[in-house]
Amino acid sequence: MASQTAIEHAALLRRHGLNVTAKRLAVLRAVSDLSHGSADDIATLVRGEIGALSLQAVYDALAAFTHKGILRRIQPAGSPARYENRVGDNHHHLVCRACDRLVDVDCAVGDAPCLEAADPSGYDIDEAEIIYWGRCPDCAAAIS
Ligand SMILES: [Zn+2]
Ligand SMILES: [Zn+2]
Repeated sequence: MASQTAIEHAALLRRHGLNVTAKRLAVLRAVSDLSHGSADDIATLVRGEIGALSLQAVYDALAAFTHKGILRRIQPAGSPARYENRVGDNHHHLVCRACDRLVDVDCAVGDAPCLEAADPSGYDIDEAEIIYWGRCPDCAAAIS
């Protein structure tokens, strides 16, 4: 019997005009289980569930989901892209410079883009993507 999550994910795929496949369902599940996993992390988890799957196939699925707005892709400088299914709320991220741990942080102030550009140069701005860099509590404790 399909789990509740699988049923919801299948409906989500159909709503976005994507065929429902075991591979896509497994990738979506892995993204929501991992929260901010990299493609490698996601591939490892998916392989544990449905067997062999190329990294390229995982990238293809992630690209299709991101393109449809089902997933959000976060790309911290100097680190692999991460994927999450918390979309549409313009939240931001904290990244640890030492261990790459990445966590959510809500909008700085109010609604998107929640950050006024000093000079928008005529652009119609709808999003500000912020990454706060520093050390996570564990790494900060290890240093001090
Ligand atoms: Zn850390
Ligand atoms: Zn996030």
